Amino acid sequence: MIKITQPIIGQEEIDAVVAVMQSGMIAQGPITAEFEKEFAAFCGTKHAIATSNGTTALHCAMYAAGIEAGDEVITTPFTFVATANSVLMQGATPVFADIKEGTYLLDPAEIEKKITSKTKAILPVDLYGQAYDSDEINEIAKKHGLKVMEDACQAHGAEDNGKKAGSLGDIACFSLYATKNMVTGEGGMITTDDDEMADRCKVFRHHGQSETERYKYYGLGYNYRLTDIASAIGREQLKKLPGFTEARIRHAKLLSDGLSSVDGITVPEVAEGRKHVFHQFTIRVADKFGMSRDELSAYLSEKGIGNAIFYPKSLHIFPQFEKYGYKPGDFPVSEKITEEVLSLPVYPLVTDEEVEYIIKTVREAKK
Ligand SMILES: *Cc1c(COP(=O)(O)O)cnc(C)c1O
Repeated sequence: MIKITQPIIGQEEIDAVVAVMQSGMIAQGPITAEFEKEFAAFCGTKHAIATSNGTTALHCAMYAAGIEAGDEVITTPFTFVATANSVLMQGATPVFADIKEGTYLLDPAEIEKKITSKTKAILPVDLYGQAYDSDEINEIAKKHGLKVMEDACQAHGAEDNGKKAGSLGDIACFSLYATKNMVTGEGGMITTDDDEMADRCKVFRHHGQSETERYKYYGLGYNYRLTDIASAIGREQLKKLPGFTEARIRHAKLLSDGLSSVDGITVPEVAEGRKHVFHQFTIRVADKFGMSRDELSAYLSEKGIGNAIFYPKSLHIFPQFEKYGYKPGDFPVSEKITEEVLSLPVYPLVTDEEVEYIIKTVREAKK
């Protein structure tokens, strides 16, 4: 069975964890501080702030950007639920805008239609490992005085016009969950150039306390810290990330070359100027293929090829968002795409032979 994804943990990560365990300092400490410095340098940002996971990173960023009840944040309905849940966590209103059919990314033209006097921020997602349309979306934000909060949870090392994901908006969030392009098991990271927002993130993840002055509470905070045990893994993963990314890109190219000529299959579109890091390699299966997306999914599973649907439903039709008045049909592109996408194994541990087998099997399924 070829799994849909698998983390790569080497002896380096194991040794680094053991060293932390033996140091006597296992919560947030000096290793996390080093990890933050290295992650900021990698992204080209002034600050990086580690958190317990990508969702808590997003919550901190919402707080840091001053998002509160009554504010509106524009985001995509075609993403993992944590993106939009983070808006709800601050009591604010998620306002969805539809995506572009080619790249599945938040559509700048749709954003403009959703801006009101209550809009405070735009929350684009670097979906599947492809950076959001930063030129156009940053321009819209500037014009309307909005913050851009980048959900880079799937895009470690991605780029737009030579600038790294994490540095494209005002503040960005990464996940280090076990299935992401680099992992710490559970973990998150926030990146920003803004000193004040960085400070607010540090306070918010630490019970509302300053990190230098204990028991002085600035307001409501949470315990969203990352442990040095996790950071030790993260530092080793960060060193390996360029190699992981290269392997993902190479597998994606083989898959695209092998599948692009199949009638009814659409391979991923990489937008101009973008470095796509292929957190997922996601094809679309149209009627012309002769087998439905769900039938192809079942067929591949039967043939020992892991596959997954990211995401089977557009977020606006789930209860916590539906109550804002959304209904089926509101986001036609997002809704159509949810019925056609299928993600195939692309992670570094997949072998070239397995990639060839995946291509051959999809081609054979074609009716
Ligand atoms: C994984 C992910 C998150 C949440 O990260 P966790 O570490 O699982 O909390 C948020 N947004 C997107 C787009 C993700 O893929």
